[in-house]
Amino acid sequence: MTTLERLQEYIRGGRVHPALLLSGPDPRLKFQAAKNLAKQLMCTQGNQERFCGECSPCRRIQKEVHPDVLILREEGEELIKIDTIRELCHQMEVSPIEGGRKIAVIDECHRMNTASANAFLKTLEEPGANRHFFLLTSQPSALLPTILSRCLQFSFKPGESLPVSEVKSQAQREALVAYLKSPNPPGQVQEWTEKEMAFSFLQTLQAEIRAILNSSHSLPELSRYSSQHLLDSFEAAVELEGRLRSNANYGLLVESYLRRYFPAEL
Ligand SMILES: [Zn+2]
Repeated sequence: MTTLERLQEYIRGGRVHPALLLSGPDPRLKFQAAKNLAKQLMCTQGNQERFCGECSPCRRIQKEVHPDVLILREEGEELIKIDTIRELCHQMEVSPIEGGRKIAVIDECHRMNTASANAFLKTLEEPGANRHFFLLTSQPSALLPTILSRCLQFSFKPGESLPVSEVKSQAQREALVAYLKSPNPPGQVQEWTEKEMAFSFLQTLQAEIRAILNSSHSLPELSRYSSQHLLDSFEAAVELEGRLRSNANYGLLVESYLRRYFPAEL
């Protein structure tokens, strides 16, 4: 069982420790793991087993714009200043905007100096109900023992990575955004070598269109299209998905679909 799986299983158990320490060498993995945990705790559509990734909380957590998921990430090698920690701790005391829980993710938390760490310790001693701190670090040994002892630690091993399916769907979303940003014509869609890529690209597109039609959050790149156009393109994407199953020219088909529905100029 990977650390990520152990962590997910732990969260599913229900009672979540107020301070989880995620340590390990891969910063991307730890950060995405923290976001996934936040989704697992706040998803409104998934079940206990898994977050959906598509509901409003899930998407806003992924985009780092959820008001009850505070993220502290200092640029470069800056130390985390005491004022920054105090402000974060203060924010965590304020009631959640959307009810339910409040989560703080502190990246590279070993960069707290002693004063910051001591200020933080006070909050950690009495975190309050439904408050969760996810501390990420590549150097757990650099943390104050008083902080370490208040955390439940999960350490990722070197070489551990996100599940392939997750990496793929993120890559497809990035590909979609890249295409919508400059639709004319990267042409790489034609060169897709795996049918799976075409499928997951179309499914990503459908999920994004569904999201924009259902509610206010969306890819800004899609918001310039009318609802009717999005509806048409959604139906065409579903239909294309069906055709892809029996056609070898999937790259070409997706490319011509994109040129028709999401061209450079409307
Ligand atoms: Zn969800």
